[in-house]
Amino acid sequence: MAKVGVVALQGAFREHREAFAALGAEVVEVRTPADLSGVEAVVLPGGESTTITRLLDLSGLREPVRQCLHAGTPALLTCAGLIVAAAEVLDGRPDQVPLGVLAVRVRRNAYGRQRESFEAPVRIAGLAGGPFPGVFIRAPVIEATGPDVEILARHAGTPVLVRQGRLFGATFHPELAGDLRVHQLVLQEV
Ligand code: GLN
Repeated sequence: MAKVGVVALQGAFREHREAFAALGAEVVEVRTPADLSGVEAVVLPGGESTTITRLLDLSGLREPVRQCLHAGTPALLTCAGLIVAAAEVLDGRPDQVPLGVLAVRVRRNAYGRQRESFEAPVRIAGLAGGPFPGVFIRAPVIEATGPDVEILARHAGTPVLVRQGRLFGATFHPELAGDLRVHQLVLQEV
């Protein structure tokens, strides 16, 4: 049984816990560096990237989480979690230093007021079973990707699901979709 560590400092971590548990994984909530022990896959959830970034520093988790992701531990990075892991963040707070492990440039809250939150079907490359129900909530836009980043899905022309090795980054919220296929993709990497 795979052991999944869900970083549980702020945001939608419970929903991720439930999704991975439904797939039969053992799930632990990660709040301290010791909680990462034995973890085979990591989740950085959606929420508020400025807050999550600050709490990573306060909890001492920044460096252990960064190392985990850098070492290629399978990971699911959603929305704020994607922002936290990114190489470059635009429209962030000045003190918001991302982990710099996922080679993307993201712009926070980039869909604009009218489209702050929306749902749209997302076609994911190689995923059987039809489009994935994309739930976008004050989502960032991925403006650029590095050479090792594969784009698995786009919405309105911009990437919304990317993969770099075993790191999966989504600008939408697969944990709120009632569809476990993205979580399954990550588990397959364990
Ligand atoms: N707008 C949020 C941020 O910048 C992300 C939103 C989300 O995770 N749903 O952190």
